[in-house]
Amino acid sequence: DSVFKNVEMAPPIQVFQLTKMYNECSNENKVNLGVGAYRTDEGKPWVLPVVREAESQMAADLTLNHEYLPVAGMPDFRTSATKILLGTNHAAISENRTESFQALGGTGALRLAAAFLGNVLGFKVVYVSNPTWGNHKGIFKSAGFSIKEYRYWDNANRSLDFSGMMEDLSNAPENAVVILHGVAHNPTGVDPTPDQWKTICQTCIDKKLFVLIDCAYQGFASGDLDQDAFASRYFADQRMDMFVAQSFSKNFGLYNERTGNLVVVTKDASKLPEIRSQMEIQIRVIWSNPPNHGARIVATVLNNKAYYEQWKGDILTMANRIKKMRQELYDALRDMSTPGNWSHITKQIGMFSYTGLSEEQVELMKTKYNIYLLSSGRISMCGITSKNVAYVAKAIDAAVR
Ligand code: PMP
Repeated sequence: DSVFKNVEMAPPIQVFQLTKMYNECSNENKVNLGVGAYRTDEGKPWVLPVVREAESQMAADLTLNHEYLPVAGMPDFRTSATKILLGTNHAAISENRTESFQALGGTGALRLAAAFLGNVLGFKVVYVSNPTWGNHKGIFKSAGFSIKEYRYWDNANRSLDFSGMMEDLSNAPENAVVILHGVAHNPTGVDPTPDQWKTICQTCIDKKLFVLIDCAYQGFASGDLDQDAFASRYFADQRMDMFVAQSFSKNFGLYNERTGNLVVVTKDASKLPEIRSQMEIQIRVIWSNPPNHGARIVATVLNNKAYYEQWKGDILTMANRIKKMRQELYDALRDMSTPGNWSHITKQIGMFSYTGLSEEQVELMKTKYNIYLLSSGRISMCGITSKNVAYVAKAIDAAVR
């Protein structure tokens, strides 16, 4: 008998299952609205032109090698990543109250945060938004945390349930970790307003909650790096202890290079050496030291003025295409007088839209139209193109009638 004989099949990971169904589907009108990765208007993956340029420069540089990086990662990458997050002149940077650790994507930054918060600080409870990116729960569960939810989505109004959120955060116990989506909430595409962010921040301070901001879409949402960093910078302005998990998967299109950064901001710079040493021990046992390629691309672009400007243009290209698709989808539904109010499609920001479609409606889109989306009704706007937007709108119209 094999020792594996009692291993049971785990539930499928829904987004990857959708991609599989999409790939196996023979309908030429099929559309994949599942996976959160940028696509061009031709429906193709996009390597940012500035990334191509940085890569050729790197390939020609014979001084580079494949030695291990330091445990904490590539210094140039970490400092430049922290600067775009907080802004070059942020007090936390000039007062040396920040440190950062290169991680395997935003996922790795979150996993490292969970390891440190659980193992070093002994925190045991994490609060995530309802709904949230599915992996938040899995990552913290595997680090031994118990998972609690705070209200977030108001389904009746397709907007933020701010009073519910505040009530739940106010009732959270001291030292609970609170994960906040820094910009472009996944899956809803609904963010707090600046004033709401201020209230959230004050509540976290008053209730002694530990804030972990997940910032996976800086620049991707509005097209502007500073605007999308509002929440992260506002919290950092308050001189509080906090973490930010940064991902370069979307804004650099470096999905498979696993390029992320865990930024630590502290009230008190004097404890940074201890924090650094403990964080390195966590890293050492998880991945030992991080991969080079993506971090080198990001550092090369951020430290070269011409590349940096070009990158901002590339980000705008992506953000604008998504905004355009939101508008076209909305217009198509309006033109058909599709029942319901669809203004949330243009109000929501970032890669995703929470359509409000029910599970049955999603199922109909899948079986009758071969349009693949999560059962929650979340669609990735990146899957919509000028060519398929009318077809998607028609399917939504049919599903809700
Ligand atoms: N957080 C959120 C909210 C996300 O949507 C994602 C990407 N889907 C991530 C973190 C992490 O992305 P990655 O690990 O690919 O950088």
